[in-house]
Amino acid sequence: MFIDKEYIENTLKMAKEAKENDIENILDRAERLEGLTHREVATLLMTEDEKHLKRIYEIAGQIKDKIYGNRVVMFAPLYVSDYCVNKCKYCGYKCDNDFERRKLTMDEIRQEVAILEKMGHKRLALEAGEDPVSCDIDYIIDCIKTIYDMKLDNGEIRRVNVNIAATTVENYKKLNEVGIGTYILFQETYHQPTYEEVHMAGPKKNYEYHLTAFDRAIEAGIEDVGAGVLFGLYEPYFEVLGLMIHNEYLEKTYGFGFHTISVPRLRAAEGNDMSEYKYLVDDDVFKKLVAIIRLAVPYTGMIISTRETEEMRRELINMGISQISAGSTVEVGGYTAREQSKAQFQVTDNRPAMDIISWLMKDGLVPSFCTACYRQGRTGDRFMQLAKSGNIKNVCHPNALMTLCEYMMDFGDDEFKMQAERLIENEIPKIQNERIRNLVIENIDKIKSGERDLYI
Ligand code: SAM
Repeated sequence: MFIDKEYIENTLKMAKEAKENDIENILDRAERLEGLTHREVATLLMTEDEKHLKRIYEIAGQIKDKIYGNRVVMFAPLYVSDYCVNKCKYCGYKCDNDFERRKLTMDEIRQEVAILEKMGHKRLALEAGEDPVSCDIDYIIDCIKTIYDMKLDNGEIRRVNVNIAATTVENYKKLNEVGIGTYILFQETYHQPTYEEVHMAGPKKNYEYHLTAFDRAIEAGIEDVGAGVLFGLYEPYFEVLGLMIHNEYLEKTYGFGFHTISVPRLRAAEGNDMSEYKYLVDDDVFKKLVAIIRLAVPYTGMIISTRETEEMRRELINMGISQISAGSTVEVGGYTAREQSKAQFQVTDNRPAMDIISWLMKDGLVPSFCTACYRQGRTGDRFMQLAKSGNIKNVCHPNALMTLCEYMMDFGDDEFKMQAERLIENEIPKIQNERIRNLVIENIDKIKSGERDLYI
């Protein structure tokens, strides 16, 4: 198996021996956007020196600027079913939590999606508990088809990412055929003894089956896979190293690594007593590890959810977060009737989507509703090649501006339109390629006269 507990522990121990010069060399490499090996990551994780930490944050900011510019990709989660046969200590959906479970009917999905489309979302993360009987793969496929078919005025969901339990190659093939964006699965913890302790019963208890889920997804043809750990379950530096080794394993085996990395921190939930966890990650350690991940995998998207506060999300965007959720509920049917059902965990940033979008723009950031890459076949290694060549900017920035213009036209009031228009006007001259710049100017005019879904 590619994750070896003793090896990770020894690597972290040895990393403490690094000399000043070693650390400076690693930081120089990171600055050149070369990415880092897991051993180099271990060295940075173990440093406590203020001077090095300052440089880590500076480089994370530079990488974010160089590769992602001032764009922030927007998405929202859609919880379709809270049926669950697992008993995961930390999760509000655990099977022994007693509440009335439900899954959305296709009509209810349409209602939820209508609300999300009215918020301007084009990209969803479909979420469900694991229950092979009440929520089987065919139900999930029906949900995805219903979401893609649902068009309301100018609203449409163009990319459905899917976060469902580890499953079989056959089931991943079905997901691939229906056209999902990223298949997201959090390892929760790479530390097997902790994994087995917190996953008390159910199919999710099987560490190896969970760990090898991406191999099966890739075998089934899915090329964009999104990883994460649930920070708070075990020692965070061990987890970061687990993520890095997993990523290197995929790169070596398949030629591409994670498309995205999510960094959820453990939150209170029904039946989840936060006082029982001794590895909760404080804000300083959290920022440090987000910045180090940014240095290590500069081309991998990084996602933060509404589990984090407004202030923390703002800081993390500067350090390399490239995607955030907005206007989220983490309840089945939650968009339609927040009070009717059970939350999986507590969210912290409760602002409406438009407030978050406006807040980003006030800071000169460009909220992006772009979903072009996967629809243009830019997935897996083709995406990574484009990203590493630096050319990704030439498509992402223009697409961000065009989708923001769509959003402004479809959902903005006068004040919002003024704010967005000003931002777009400021951003267009930054497009260096003259042909693309002219194309964007032309397309923005077309969008203002009613055309939609223009992208590069
Ligand atoms: N059932 C699928 C699975 O087993 O992977 C999907 C998981 S769930 C819908 C999405 C994620 O929420 C989980 O992978 C977990 O990391 C996270 N989560 C669960 N309980 C949480 C809590 N109390 N605080 C923060 N995140 C939590």
